[in-house]
Amino acid sequence: MNNHMRANLKEYAHLFNILRDGEGFWKIALYVRLSKDDGKSVSKSILFQIKMIARFIRDELKNFEVVDIYIDDGLTGTDFERHDYIRLHDDVENKEINCIIVKDLTRYARNIADGIKELDCYVLEHKIRFISIDIPEIDTYKDPKAISSPEVYQALQDAENHARNTSVKIRRVQAVKREDGEPTGGFPPYGYLKNPDPLEKNFIIDPEASEIIKQIFLWSYSGLGSTAIAKKLNDMGISNPTDYKKSKGFNYSNPHAKNNSGKWWPQTVSRLLKSKVYIGFMEQGKTTSFDHKRHKQEPVQSEKHILVADCHEKIIGDDMFENVAEGRKARTRITKTGEPHLFSNLVCCAGCKRALAKTNNKNQTSYLVCRTNRLLGNFCNEKASVRLDKLEQDVLVLIQSQINLVADLQAIVEKINQKPKIKNRSQRLEELHHETQNKINSSRKKLTDSWNDWKDGFLSREQYIIINADIEKKIEQLQITQKNVLNLQNKIKQGISSNDRYFEKFLKYRNIDSLNRLLLNELVKKIYINSDKSIDIVFNYQDQYLLILDFIRENNIDIKNQKIRKREK
Ligand SMILES: [Zn+2]
Repeated sequence: MNNHMRANLKEYAHLFNILRDGEGFWKIALYVRLSKDDGKSVSKSILFQIKMIARFIRDELKNFEVVDIYIDDGLTGTDFERHDYIRLHDDVENKEINCIIVKDLTRYARNIADGIKELDCYVLEHKIRFISIDIPEIDTYKDPKAISSPEVYQALQDAENHARNTSVKIRRVQAVKREDGEPTGGFPPYGYLKNPDPLEKNFIIDPEASEIIKQIFLWSYSGLGSTAIAKKLNDMGISNPTDYKKSKGFNYSNPHAKNNSGKWWPQTVSRLLKSKVYIGFMEQGKTTSFDHKRHKQEPVQSEKHILVADCHEKIIGDDMFENVAEGRKARTRITKTGEPHLFSNLVCCAGCKRALAKTNNKNQTSYLVCRTNRLLGNFCNEKASVRLDKLEQDVLVLIQSQINLVADLQAIVEKINQKPKIKNRSQRLEELHHETQNKINSSRKKLTDSWNDWKDGFLSREQYIIINADIEKKIEQLQITQKNVLNLQNKIKQGISSNDRYFEKFLKYRNIDSLNRLLLNELVKKIYINSDKSIDIVFNYQDQYLLILDFIRENNIDIKNQKIRKREK
């Protein structure tokens, strides 16, 4: 055996807590290969394969010794040569190695010809143990026949056709997604600690600092600005992140704070409140190309950086994070424009659903425009913009006509209630009820399926947990929908009267001739502006409105005809 540690092994030695275990009967070679299909994140994918194999060795093997890691980088166009593959074969023939482990079969054998040559002949001939971790799982020591199973043949065939089994791919993507967020800097962000286990997620929550993070978000949520929050933290004598990290023994210097005073600054607070690290993201530096195979990574482009989700446990819930961001945005908008305009936060771009910002042109005419592309890059296709005074006129007309419609509805409801027989049901809600129930049932079936997949070894425990959590979350949401539907069904059972509060809410504004914020707040949920300047208004109390329409429909009255007749009178 070599006295010096081999170069590749040395580079990745930190991933192996145990390079040998016991007598070292199994002399292990890790073979990893990057192919052109893997996209451009070279180091990450190689690192990922090595991590998976290292974890497998740690959990599954005894009496082993890791001899070396053999790496072929197919991206540089030298795939045909496969230098380390040849080196690996030399080492097998010199009896330095008796066990080869790969992440998946197609790393080692690229097609059926390779497969027959390598697996059926070479592996058997040299009596080496060959392990492939992903599906189809192979371990020639435990099951020599696995090597010539139809699944293996199929996997090789698929690799040859570049058409991988999609369900397997999706499962694999789940695991890769979690793994790919390698930290770009050496230090964990404030609120996190480095995970002592290099094979698990990079960061774990720091119980002490994470409490401060939560408190900062709560304060912001309750309406405090960054300056006020910084003041509170300083008054409470809490160390700023730089001091905190120093006190924990990190040799840490923050590039943002050259002269650290130990104080919290508003900028520090703002930076924390904006950081997606706290909802589990990590920034992946400099990767500009978007890997189509990993479309689930939800890349967000900001200065050509990509954010990868689920890299570590969240400190802040998604809802909280979003609410805080919205609140801060609204507050900045108010301070920037001096006065909030009549429609602040109500008018959104139909494309990106973000609030429009007010700007004045050189004639001092006010416009509301979508700033998304300017602020975030090419994200919005609608790019809505509208003249503020024109919008006021149009919205007034639309609200007036909605109020007229409500008046019509009230008249119809009154008429229905005079009839001897009234139907208090809603076909729409009954259908919705059935549909939701079906979805719940099929999700429950998926839970059973993934349990079986896990039991049968098609899913790792971690993959099973991730998939399960997704399904259970979905079921929970469906159950909430179901509860709402039941509530509405009960409501309509009690009937709709012409004194319904819905009518009152709209009809008290019957004679308006101008808009005001109070009216808008009460009646309007959102106003969407399309690129052709057309306007969609979403009114409040939608549920009640739909119930009234259901009631009218069930009682056989065609709303359109009624309206025409009413106008003719
Ligand atoms: Zn937009």
